[in-house]
Amino acid sequence: MYDVNSKCADDFINHEEILETLAYADENKENVELIDSIIEKAKKRKGLSHREASVLLACPIEEKNEEIYKLAEQIKKDFYGNRIVMFAPLYLSNYCINGCTYCPYHAKNKHIPRKQLSQEEIKREVIALQDMGHKRLALEAGEDPVRNTMDYYLESIKTIYSIKHKNGAIRRVNINIAATTVDNYRLLKEAGIGTYILFQETYHKESYLELHPTGPKHDYNYHTEAMDRAMEGGIDDVGLGVLFGLDKYRYEFAGLLMHAEHLEAAFGVGPHTISVPRLKHADDINPDDFDNGIDDDTFAKIVACIRIAVPYTGMIISTRENQKTRERVLHLGISQISGGSRTSVGGYYEPEPEDASSEQFDVSDNRTLDEVVRWLMEMDYIPSFCTACYREGRTGDRFMSLCKSGQIQNCCHPNALMTLKEYLMDYASPETKAIGDKLIDREVLNVPNEKARAVVLENLRLIEQDNRR
Ligand code: SAM
Repeated sequence: MYDVNSKCADDFINHEEILETLAYADENKENVELIDSIIEKAKKRKGLSHREASVLLACPIEEKNEEIYKLAEQIKKDFYGNRIVMFAPLYLSNYCINGCTYCPYHAKNKHIPRKQLSQEEIKREVIALQDMGHKRLALEAGEDPVRNTMDYYLESIKTIYSIKHKNGAIRRVNINIAATTVDNYRLLKEAGIGTYILFQETYHKESYLELHPTGPKHDYNYHTEAMDRAMEGGIDDVGLGVLFGLDKYRYEFAGLLMHAEHLEAAFGVGPHTISVPRLKHADDINPDDFDNGIDDDTFAKIVACIRIAVPYTGMIISTRENQKTRERVLHLGISQISGGSRTSVGGYYEPEPEDASSEQFDVSDNRTLDEVVRWLMEMDYIPSFCTACYREGRTGDRFMSLCKSGQIQNCCHPNALMTLKEYLMDYASPETKAIGDKLIDREVLNVPNEKARAVVLENLRLIEQDNRR
């Protein structure tokens, strides 16, 4: 039975409810009166239910879709301005005992070299990432309770935060590792992680069981209830995502929003981020073997519908997508983007030969961070290296209430400009710096409060003189 408050995955991601939602969306996908009323509700910027958003996603009417895209763009601007938060993944280990049929890390794959970074190797990777200018990382690892232990993760996080190199410092470590216990989530929180990210892969239980035939990840309920345990362990920023291509996208979309509704109902705070990965070619994996791939138009529509359904949730796009797709969805709702990414274990310090790669999937955007930053600024986005919310304890409901009230703009805009200035001074190529300095000159005028503007100008001047506060 569908119960948004239940702690059982079968209730809050209830299969019957999803089927009914899809039938309702099918019946109403051309019901202009209903669609208009849903769009009107969305304009209030308080979000939509999974049923309402599913109707919009199913709607084939071009004119209505244009309205949906326009609204998504506007909501994105209202909540996130033109800032885009920058991050990079850091692969710690590709040892894995699971049997996920779509992932090259699956235990039976004997072609890929298996690696786990030592603390010394982590230092080298982090220095390489700092030398690009990164301040925010997402740690990634396969599931191997013997090798990739909680102690290993805790030590790695400590190592990462401790490395100070020139002006570099990693200020926020997010982590994407297998579902674990409340006690372990508590330890991760104490170690100072930012967001705990776990992709659901698919919300369709039957498919999930087939796609994860062996290993601890086979347990659908344990995996789906992970965010509840993370929140019980004190982690209030959690990141959801599905791997589009595994099952039918409309099913996944409804499940994803039901998951967000459940977290909001049960803990008073929805997901901090939603990621939208699409299945990619990888060693031993051919995406054509999976029937549910989605085209770029559908992908864009999903991003737009998520944006208006959960306006205050950040949205992440990785280098699984190419420059063109990234550009399109940035306008529609994405707020965080990776740059200069390597998906191999140890690949920042020492890029691997293609034929002996430990990488997780083929990267479709191979540009350097400098190139990604410049490209963003050429489109009038402000690449932001800010981690202030996390540093100042604005996580979970404290972050959400600030975001829901629209107030986040008042602190984020100046912080984005100052951290961008630091990046330009420390890491940018002369061409990128020239474009960035002009952007900052223009954008500083958009700091609404006069007093605040004076403070920002003064800080920018100090950064220019290499006098950091
Ligand atoms: N071990 C953790 C877990 O169990 O969730 C982290 C997994 S992995 C390092 C991060 C994500 O990569 C997975 O959750 C999956 O969605 C994604 N992934 C796996 N294979 C992929 C592929 N072939 N193409 C694109 N993404 C893939």
